[in-house]
Amino acid sequence: MNKQPVTVIGLGPMGRAMVGAFLDNGHAVTVWNRTESKADDLVARGAVRADTIQAALAANELVVLSLTDYAAVYDVLGSATTALAGRVLVNLSSDTPDQARTAARWAAEHGATQVTGGVLVPPPGIGKPGSSTFYSGPREAFEAHRETLEVLTATDYRGDDPGLAALYYQLNMDMFWTSMLGWLHALALARANGISAKEMLPYAKLALNLEYFLEFYTDRIDAGEHPGDVDRLAMGMASVEHVAHTTRDSRVDPALPDALLEIFRRGQTAGHGDDSFTSLIDIVTAQR
Ligand code: NDP
Repeated sequence: MNKQPVTVIGLGPMGRAMVGAFLDNGHAVTVWNRTESKADDLVARGAVRADTIQAALAANELVVLSLTDYAAVYDVLGSATTALAGRVLVNLSSDTPDQARTAARWAAEHGATQVTGGVLVPPPGIGKPGSSTFYSGPREAFEAHRETLEVLTATDYRGDDPGLAALYYQLNMDMFWTSMLGWLHALALARANGISAKEMLPYAKLALNLEYFLEFYTDRIDAGEHPGDVDRLAMGMASVEHVAHTTRDSRVDPALPDALLEIFRRGQTAGHGDDSFTSLIDIVTAQR
């Protein structure tokens, strides 16, 4: 069976990796990018350069968008709305769930179908085992193109709502950035004390392997139960205070532990001192 041809719009590191994976798997690929020269090596590998965005859209039913954000999507597609009818726009550009929903409506107004995606791996992970992408939007459109999309990563379809893939992606980014910044802060503290990132690597791997804690606390959190039987928030607060003091003693910026401490203090003030630190979920849920 002939492989489905695909258009890829946006040739940043991610779009370029995607074009490479499609080409490696025998798909005909049409490409377009604002900065034309980024297509040169891909054209040398067999991609077809579209001279205009209209031509890129006209070339194939399946159009993968890999742009910085949804503002860029409108910048690019806004001048070619007449070419959108009948296209399936697999929008792998990151943005908020609301932006994804608005863009899906905008696409529909122009006769196109948006399938939203949130890619969970960096460009070197594209086309490799163990990678995954959240998708959402009309199931039929997703299923029709699932096999082709699986050339890029495994797929995890979350539902009809076009905002869902963006939501799951942002949930992932929330955990990713806070964890990674925690890691960087610990490395700064280590460096201030003469310990290299390399020396810290085995300890960082252990500390950030939180599976035991996630498994242990998940059911309790869903049940709204935060007994202080294995940990008390007051104990956790003392621990964070020690981190903040060690940070200051090491002349490292204390902004991150101070922000944690502020949240623990609010939990303590709300009377959760003898509950588990997981009671902080109620503190961070309330919008201030
Ligand atoms: P980049 O921001 O590096 O590049 C994306 C593309 O967007 C470029 O081709 C750029 O064109 C284009 N672009 C940006 N603004 C405009 C505009 N106003 N008009 C026209 N074109 C525009 O992103 P990446 O390639 O790294 O990533 C693409 C998407 O994938 C992003 O949404 C990102 O969040 C997501 N993602 C990225 C990951 C990564 O590790 N890189 C991991 C997971 C998801 P030009 O070349 O002309 O500048």
